Formats: sequence, C-alpha cells, structure tokens
Amino acid sequence: DIPVITIDGPTASGKGTLSASVAAGLGWHTLDSGSLYRVTALAARRAGVSVDDEQGLAATARAMQLRFEGVRVLLAGEDVSDELRDEAVGMMASRISAWPAVRAALYDLQCGFRQLPGLVADGRDMGTVIFPDAGLKIFLTATAAARAERRLNQLIAKGISASLDDLRADLEARDERDRTRETAPLRPAEDALRLDNSQLGIEASVRQVVAWWNARQPF
Ligand code: C5P
Repeated sequence: DIPVITIDGPTASGKGTLSASVAAGLGWHTLDSGSLYRVTALAARRAGVSVDDEQGLAATARAMQLRFEGVRVLLAGEDVSDELRDEAVGMMASRISAWPAVRAALYDLQCGFRQLPGLVADGRDMGTVIFPDAGLKIFLTATAAARAERRLNQLIAKGISASLDDLRADLEARDERDRTRETAPLRPAEDALRLDNSQLGIEASVRQVVAWWNARQPF
C-alpha cells in the first residue's frame, strides 16, 4: 500500500510550499493538483475552447500531452510552468474546475501520481475525493488577510505590483466558488486535522505535519 498525505485548503494558504517541504523531508513525490486545473485552462485558452463549454473542456483535459519533470510542467513538449502561475490562468482554472466533467477527466491522472515510496498531494479535494484512504489528511487554513499578504509578497518578489485589497477580493472570490460548487466543494475531510498557519512559519508547519505522520495510528 503506497502511503499518501493530503493537504487541502483555500487559495494561498501555503499548501504548495508545505507539501513540497514535507515531501522533500520524507523523500516522497508530490502532486500539485491545482497545476492540472491550470494547465487545462491554458490548453483550453490556446485551443479557443470557452470556459462555458463543459464537454469541450473535458475533452481538452483528456487530450493534453503532459510531461512532468520535477516541478516543471510540459504541455506538448513546451515548458509552461511559468505561464501556469499567471493570475489570469489561475482565475480561469478556478472557473473551469466547477464543471463535473472536467473534474472527472482529471481523476485518473491524479490517482496515477501515487507512487512509491509515497505521495504528498495538495489541492481542494485530495482528502475528500481523490485519496479518501490517505493515511494523514491536513486541512490548512490561514486568515484572508494573511493569505493576501503572502500573495502580495510573492508578486513583489517577481517585480509585479498589486493592491492588497484587490488580491484579497480575488482570493475570497475563488474560495467562494470552491466552497459552493456542487462537485467536490472545498471542505475538510471528516478525518482531516486542521492546521492554521497564519502565525506559523514553514519549518514549524513541516514539523507539525511530520510529527502527525509519525504519530498516526495504524489502520
Ligand atoms: O491551487 P491553485 O490555485 O493552483 O488551483 C487553481 C484552481 O484550481 C483553484 O482556484 C481551484 O478552483 C481549482 N482546484 C480544484 N481542485 C483541486 C485543485 C485546484 O478545484 N484539487
């Protein structure tokens, strides 16, 4: 049985950083499931498929030629990793992820990331839908203010300026869509452990997750 740790939570809660650090510590693989919704959005935009065309989007998701090289994502041989981080692509990913057919089209691809010696998977429905049998499920939260500030600092580091209020409004809109969609809404799995990292540094968060993993009850 291949072990899995899931880390779900809202936009900019620090899931990606935490998941990469925990995986590095354990020597495990990672799945950044948001990047699959992002690359589907990008592929659809390039193919001229509308965000309202559920079946067209699902067909796009199924037909994508993807390769993963470490943290880089290649679409039809082209490294699109940087483009996937664009705000516009993120917003489009948020919209298309509400379609059940899109989520279904990405299901097998996500399950395929489960490989020895283990997987740390981050997203919105890793613990509830994709890996319901995961040995440890984390629901990561942080206040909207803390998340908006982190986003702002990431953008500043890239030399991009933005308004804190706009960023906060944008992430609250995404959260609202994630929470209220009918298929796989954002919510903690029943057996998820909550971690609020508003006041917690990355090292302390990693230590907490690894401590929970080591202390888990055999099932
Ligand atoms: O996490 P990230 O911002 O990269 O995800 C992009 C979008 O994809 C999110 O806004 C969310 O709506 C969607 N998503 C999802 N389910 C996941 C991961 C991401 O619906 N497991």
